[in-house]
Amino acid sequence: MKEIKLVNVTKKFGGETVLNNVSLTIPSGKFFALLGPSGSGKTTILRLIAGFERVDSGHIFLGDEEITHTPINKRRVHTVFQNYALFPHLNVYENVAYSLKIKNVSRDEIHNKVMKMLSIVRLDNMANKLINQLSGGQQQRVALARAIINEPEVLLLDEPLAALDPSLKDKMLIELMDLQTELKTTFIYITHDQAEALTLADQMAIMNNNGTIEQIGTPEQIYEFPRSSFVATFVGTTNLLSGVLINENLDTQLGKIPLNIEAAKLIGKDNGDELVLSIRPEKIFINKNQPLVDFVLEGKVKSIIYQGRFTQYMVEVKGKVLQIFEQNEDHLSRLSIDIDDVVFIWWLKECTVLLPV
Ligand code: ADP
Ligand code: MG
Repeated sequence: MKEIKLVNVTKKFGGETVLNNVSLTIPSGKFFALLGPSGSGKTTILRLIAGFERVDSGHIFLGDEEITHTPINKRRVHTVFQNYALFPHLNVYENVAYSLKIKNVSRDEIHNKVMKMLSIVRLDNMANKLINQLSGGQQQRVALARAIINEPEVLLLDEPLAALDPSLKDKMLIELMDLQTELKTTFIYITHDQAEALTLADQMAIMNNNGTIEQIGTPEQIYEFPRSSFVATFVGTTNLLSGVLINENLDTQLGKIPLNIEAAKLIGKDNGDELVLSIRPEKIFINKNQPLVDFVLEGKVKSIIYQGRFTQYMVEVKGKVLQIFEQNEDHLSRLSIDIDDVVFIWWLKECTVLLPV
């Protein structure tokens, strides 16, 4: 397990800059997720680390060793692709054994290692099955066993669960986390699915479509303290309100909203500056009765969608529609709110996040 470091990496295809001076440290032995919209350059980062592409400028390190120009087969990294890239004419055992066979490892050693890998991914009883006799989830596990048999320092996973159905995906997510905990290999996991990244990652980086990284942090830091509107909306759902900072309030189209002024100072904003406030839907309270609080907004319910775990309300306040999630704690809705009802909504100022415009 080693850390991976990208230093000022730029990569262009044709005239288009896909990665613009990207610096990124991926800590060793951790589960690191690279999250970004389609086309943001995630796969390109992986291919640079693996050696399938060359940087236009910048450096890549594996631990202390610079690998920017190291040939693919000399890098102790292994990639698991979205389509698994298994050999369909070989059985499970042979697929996992393949890379050891071409290295002339002894038969006994191959057998021991393959069976150990198959037991780690819980396929010991499938060794003789052909690849096309397996389900998608089982094929994914073969790909993982094949990837870890060479004990790579770093395992690169490019949207490995994208082809699986949702219930199987949830199961595989947990298996992947267990596998990483067991192996302590550095995992770099690419996804465009924010829920996946939040579930899996010890640390995550958010990429944008300008070839740069927007933010790096733990899932909790990213979700609770996004540093840009892009991150706030790309990771999770949020309500954004723009306005001008005036004496610990944000003057918005909804009127003056009290602020956590420490947060404004943190991003270096002063009276008269424009700001964006982000408030997550689950942090907003909603009720038909007016609460006894200093700050409250009055609005009209435009839609109600029951989502199982929570109910989603769209509430219009002075022409602006806010989204609110109310946890369904009780068996039956206790709010008895209907469309077109007048409701009161409010939140704690500590739950707001201030962002640059
Ligand atoms: P992501 O994995 O985030 O969806 P990619 O890294 O695959 O994004 O691609 C980023 C951008 O680089 C896209 O605009 C894509 O079209 C372009 N690109 C990727 N690989 C190549 C290539 N080999 N040749 C030309 N353009 C490429
Ligand atoms: Mg990709």
